[in-house]
Amino acid sequence: MSIADRLRAEIAGRRDDLVALTQDLIRIPTLNPPGANYREICDYLDRRLRASGFATELVRATGAPGDSDRYPRWNIVARKSGARAGPCVHFNAHIDVVEAGHGWTVDPFGGLLREGHIYGRGACDMKGGLAASIVAAEAFIAVLPDFAGAIEISGTADEESGGFGGVAYLAERGWFDPARVQHVIIPEPLNKDRICLGHRGVWWAEIETKGEIAHGSMPFLGDCAVRHMGAVIAEMEARLFPALAQKRTAMPVVPEGARQSTLNINSIHGGAPEPPEDDTGLPSPCVPDRCRMVIDRRFLIEEDIAEVEAEIRALLETLREGRPGFDYDIRELHRVLPTMTRRDAPVVGAVARAVRAVFDREAEYVVSPGTYDQKHIDRIGRLKNCIAYGPGILDLAHKPDEWVGVEDMMQSATVMALALHELLAD
Ligand SMILES: [Zn+2]
Repeated sequence: MSIADRLRAEIAGRRDDLVALTQDLIRIPTLNPPGANYREICDYLDRRLRASGFATELVRATGAPGDSDRYPRWNIVARKSGARAGPCVHFNAHIDVVEAGHGWTVDPFGGLLREGHIYGRGACDMKGGLAASIVAAEAFIAVLPDFAGAIEISGTADEESGGFGGVAYLAERGWFDPARVQHVIIPEPLNKDRICLGHRGVWWAEIETKGEIAHGSMPFLGDCAVRHMGAVIAEMEARLFPALAQKRTAMPVVPEGARQSTLNINSIHGGAPEPPEDDTGLPSPCVPDRCRMVIDRRFLIEEDIAEVEAEIRALLETLREGRPGFDYDIRELHRVLPTMTRRDAPVVGAVARAVRAVFDREAEYVVSPGTYDQKHIDRIGRLKNCIAYGPGILDLAHKPDEWVGVEDMMQSATVMALALHELLAD
């Protein structure tokens, strides 16, 4: 039997184990916020991976945003060295899940298996991917115990809230230094036959328009900041949104609607703060003297972030020149540069060939509209040979009755094991 056939058979024999592992992970409710049960899931992974021969280290992101004694930001990094020198392949999965929300028909932390689907918050995003990578690595080690190089598996905190207590913290401390890790696969739910090369960039900013408070019965004695913000929106509608729609990208972003520059108006607040739900009084009549808008601009690898920023400032300056009384402030809240791994990167080729071997068709190359932890591995770790590849349907992430398919996980685990074979067999 060829090594590839032995790997397939080894994975096929581990179906029940893969199901049980996924269920166990779902049953630890690692909700973020607040960042609950990170230690519990790290302890669980620690027991599992040590039993499989991995050396493990638990790393608390002390002092990172969100870290506290009540909700410590624990991460685990496990490493299994082969018999000889060679490269290190690292599987990175985030351990946190978003809130369950409403609309579930099953227990979001029950791990129910029904008709080949495992249900639960985090089933596809991304405990199913984590479980598939663990089973792939264990099967590979069982078939080829004298492999070259090393396999690492990490479970990291806080991806859903920016990754600062997780991958960013580890990357800042050298865990993703290209001298120790050469290939990274992030098993996010991008579908079992798709290779995600990277993501678009992000620029968040808050715009504030200024006015002058006055009695609401005599608005002409003040200056309404909300009307000034209305002028900002009108300018966006007339010129900015059409201009953004013209900026197309060569990045293979999915869904296709995101294959251009986009801007979301995340929120607008003007005038008195919104009263609490139980307030029964009337508002007082005032002309709002300030209005704030948060914008979420997603940009392309072809765009420069300085131009993205300048475009918004130019829009505001046009209004300052043309509109009486218009004044504003703008401040940046958050920025992430776009990233896209080259198609000829070694990890891309290895996974693409494994996808072809399992599905008898070419892998689809995609780019994510939103960001994930690859940004920290690229920008902080300076490690470019990184992709997202894993089982699960992205559209199900963060929704009620989230599930992952057992057969999808089995096929993905086979792809991962075959890729390990290509990268670590020599
Ligand atoms: Zn995710």
